[in-house]
Amino acid sequence: MSTETFEFQVEARQLLQLMIHSVYSNKDVFLRELVSNASDALDKLRLAKLRDDSLDADVSDLHIELEIDKDARTLTVRDNGIGMSYDEVGKLIGTIANSGTAEFLRELRQAQDTAGAEGLIGQFGVGFYSGFMVADEVTLLTRRAGEEQGTRWTSRGEGTYTLETVDGAPQGTSVTLHLKPADPDNQLHDYTSVWKIKEIVKRYSDFITWPVRLVGERGDGDDKTAEPETLNSMKALWARSRDEVSEDEYHELYKHISHDWRDPLETIQLQAEGTFEYQALLFLPSHAPHDLFTRDFKRGVQLYVKRVFIMDDCEELLPPYLRFVKGVVDAQDLSLNVSREILQQDRHIRMMQRRLTKKVLASVKSMMTDDAERYATFWREFGTVLKEGLVTDSDNRDALLAVASFATTHGDDETVTLQQYVERMRDGQDDIYYITGESRESIDNSPHMEAFRERGIEVLLLTDPVDEVWVDAVGEYEGKRLRSIAKGEIDLGAQDDEKAGEDREKQAEEYAGLLGWMREQLDEDVKEVRLSTRLTVSPACLVADAHDLTPALESMYRAMGQ
Ligand code: ADP
Ligand code: MG
Repeated sequence: MSTETFEFQVEARQLLQLMIHSVYSNKDVFLRELVSNASDALDKLRLAKLRDDSLDADVSDLHIELEIDKDARTLTVRDNGIGMSYDEVGKLIGTIANSGTAEFLRELRQAQDTAGAEGLIGQFGVGFYSGFMVADEVTLLTRRAGEEQGTRWTSRGEGTYTLETVDGAPQGTSVTLHLKPADPDNQLHDYTSVWKIKEIVKRYSDFITWPVRLVGERGDGDDKTAEPETLNSMKALWARSRDEVSEDEYHELYKHISHDWRDPLETIQLQAEGTFEYQALLFLPSHAPHDLFTRDFKRGVQLYVKRVFIMDDCEELLPPYLRFVKGVVDAQDLSLNVSREILQQDRHIRMMQRRLTKKVLASVKSMMTDDAERYATFWREFGTVLKEGLVTDSDNRDALLAVASFATTHGDDETVTLQQYVERMRDGQDDIYYITGESRESIDNSPHMEAFRERGIEVLLLTDPVDEVWVDAVGEYEGKRLRSIAKGEIDLGAQDDEKAGEDREKQAEEYAGLLGWMREQLDEDVKEVRLSTRLTVSPACLVADAHDLTPALESMYRAMGQ
């Protein structure tokens, strides 16, 4: 059995440095991270055994153990879950695999000053490495369920780690932290204190569905052997009524399942009773993840069946335009062996999706009425995604239109709903006007805007690529057509007084010669040349036919391969 030494990946090393030298941050979270990993490992083993009964693993008493050794100044977090093979340890622990951590590093690089960086760590779950905030040496001993040989990983967090194979390791994983001396002034508490450990578990990990037991020597003097004591209540938050659960408890669950370190914006609970019973606890995050618009964005919620964890990222329970929603859905009447294929066809799953979608949209709606600021945050982060639903989900189109809001020529920062727009339409105005473009600046300077600005007619400023698609798909709102001010003939003259109408007839005669000449000259390039009321300063502008694709839409369709 030889010991090999390896170097950490560059990013891992940077992260470790930060961990070790962070001064102000809340170091208690290391335990949440280790317990969370242990809990995941137990979930994975239970599922593996369920899928393959021949797996040589004991699942009779799956649990997490915490063991304090005051003399050695160590704290051990142990689970009898899935464990890791030698290769897995190297791959999972030596690199930065988890996407939350990668994102954290990105933010960290942006936070120029170290104070900002410290603040970030304090709120952030950075996984396994957070052990180095409180320990000067970490040892991990693990054996993958079904395998013979175990692996020991050790590091002082200073650039290298060692790996060796071990015989006789118990199934699962134990992580032993050799604790730094306590330094309460710097948030470094005494983690050999039973009281402190109990407090942290209660605070961050109470909802963990596996027992977290405190074992081994405790107390002083002769009173040294104590019975294992279970520290967490293991109550599934989604099955409890809302007034029994504190906001903090919900937020901790959110952080556990989302790997986000910030509080969610909104917690949504649904308990469906009747023939197909299920409970759902959904969260709207407060920030859009950076990869929301990439192909391999992991969407979906966690699926449980009768309290048993079945899968992460269950996509079938919410439509793609709600892919940012996180949470747990626990169904009573599905089989524990349910597969993706079954989920895709199951009638009950489709019903659940419909119901959950409506519930999410309803809570966005109440956020809008009850808390404008929170709604504004939500729409800023997720509006672009939600608008996809206007195209793809005609059943919920009205609900989506009710919560959608848009930048407008009336007000710089404010957004307006279609309802509000219609309410303040000017007398004689029949249509809802909008303009699309790449940025607000480019639209604001567009010659198409002139006449509208002059007449004080409100125009919606739409700058997301999806805007071009949904306005087409939706077409109208409460009988008012959605009209692009850059397309087709727009007769703003009709909204002015009659005198102006007479003027225009006269003008048409006057300019007939010029228009005819221009038509001839531009014959190859344009379809028509006409007088317009849409300009006030610019002499001329190009417009598309009402049914033409705009350039942005053309390129979007091309990108979609159509
Ligand atoms: P994350 O949990 O977000 O993936 P971590 O840094 O906490 O990131 O852990 C990295 C990976 O190491 C985990 O995804 C898991 O595969 C593995 N791991 C960590 N702890 C354990 C454990 N107790 N049992 C089995 N695997 C573990
Ligand atoms: Mg983790």
